[in-house]
Amino acid sequence: MLITTDAICNYFIHRTTGILLSTHCIKIYNDKDEDINIQTKDGSMAYYSVSEAQSCILAHLAARHSETIALHDAPGRVLAEDVTANRNHPPYDVSAMDGYALRFADIASATQASPAVLTVVDDIRAGQMPTISIFPGKAARIMTGAPVPPGADTVVRVEDTEQHGSDVHILALPKPGANIRPLGENLRDGEVVLTAGTEITPGVLAILAMVKKKQVPVYTRPRVAIVSTGDELEGIDEPVDENKIPDANSHALFAQCKALGIKPVLLGIARDNPIELKAKLAAGLEYDVLLASGGVSVGHHDFVRPVLDTLGITMHFWRVAMRPGHPLAFGTSADGCAVFGLPGNPVSSMVCFEQFVAPALRKMMGHRTLFRRTITAGLAHDVSDRAGRMHFVRATLQRDAKGYLASSTGTQGSGVLMSMAQAEGFIVVPAACEALKAGDEVVVQLLHGMEFQQEAGI
Ligand code: AMP
Ligand code: MG
Repeated sequence: MLITTDAICNYFIHRTTGILLSTHCIKIYNDKDEDINIQTKDGSMAYYSVSEAQSCILAHLAARHSETIALHDAPGRVLAEDVTANRNHPPYDVSAMDGYALRFADIASATQASPAVLTVVDDIRAGQMPTISIFPGKAARIMTGAPVPPGADTVVRVEDTEQHGSDVHILALPKPGANIRPLGENLRDGEVVLTAGTEITPGVLAILAMVKKKQVPVYTRPRVAIVSTGDELEGIDEPVDENKIPDANSHALFAQCKALGIKPVLLGIARDNPIELKAKLAAGLEYDVLLASGGVSVGHHDFVRPVLDTLGITMHFWRVAMRPGHPLAFGTSADGCAVFGLPGNPVSSMVCFEQFVAPALRKMMGHRTLFRRTITAGLAHDVSDRAGRMHFVRATLQRDAKGYLASSTGTQGSGVLMSMAQAEGFIVVPAACEALKAGDEVVVQLLHGMEFQQEAGI
């Protein structure tokens, strides 16, 4: 089928807000010159700020259903139910040291020169219950984790003692009650020890193991589909054609999803052809989240939004006052699929993912922490900017005497992927700001890998 298009874009300044608005209407005709009814009008949609766009997205999404999975599959997932301890741990007062369990009153005046001398009446190992009570003048040899015998109230570590035959000499005085871990110090029977929404880190998993959760209730992960759009794109399995642009976005988005613990499905490349695009996007709507990159702006061949329109998607906004990445569309289907029309420029697509898609996916996975961690850093050099858009400058971070020093990764064009490949974070230049000076304190959003560094640093 032959397709012709007719696009009309008019820009005007909104009377009261001064924001740039556009009317955008694309009509598509088939070879019989029939209007096949793909059109959209955006005159009423102003630019959202980054936070308005985030709020709008999050307001349309909720944590998903839950499922039960094996404990060892649970790292990185989010608990969907509170977890209650099924026992006390420790189950009784236990020794925190290898040493001697005794009555503090018996050794209150001990010194190295004049040690207290007690008779050793028992030898208690971990996992063994004491059979003898400790009366005045007596002590029991005790291992770490072994139950403190009745009558004893303090443990003296072995390094502060000398054993002579059946006697022990106490050479140094601990505090009363020292070296005893009280019953239930770690877990209290019947108490909620982990709440729904907790991410399962190795430490959390250890607690789940202690309360015998071999099966763990977690939130489901959303199923994500990725589509790249553009006539110029060359798929990774296609031979190199110098006139084409290798598809980076599908793979970058794949990796960004993987970093969140989601394995998305790549639906491939859709050409800038409404029929093909419609088929691909319709397939993507079968998933919980559809990420389509490219074709979302106002060019004559940017069909993503009008095609989504024909697929019944409710568009909530489609532009954000940010740089890079302002042509970003967000909509939802009647079945609850969240659709992100991401900008085609690879850096823009990646930045938009971090600002909007990542918080959305984390919310759907049940996380309480949705946004990338921010720190403050000193700026290593001036950054000039146009006011009106929040700017995400790709940056590296070095330690300095005051904390961190942030430097731009160099050329910041939205097609310069090296700026992302080298980035440890984004310097956030607020929308109201025109210029920042070297030495200014700036907010930096941390990206992947910031948990690790080259030197131990301790
Ligand atoms: P668009 O938003 O479709 O106008 O694309 C903007 C720019 O991003 C164009 O230069 C495209 O060639 C480029 N681009 C779009 N999609 C991709 C992709 N999947 N991988 C790499 N570059 C892309
Ligand atoms: Mg395109």
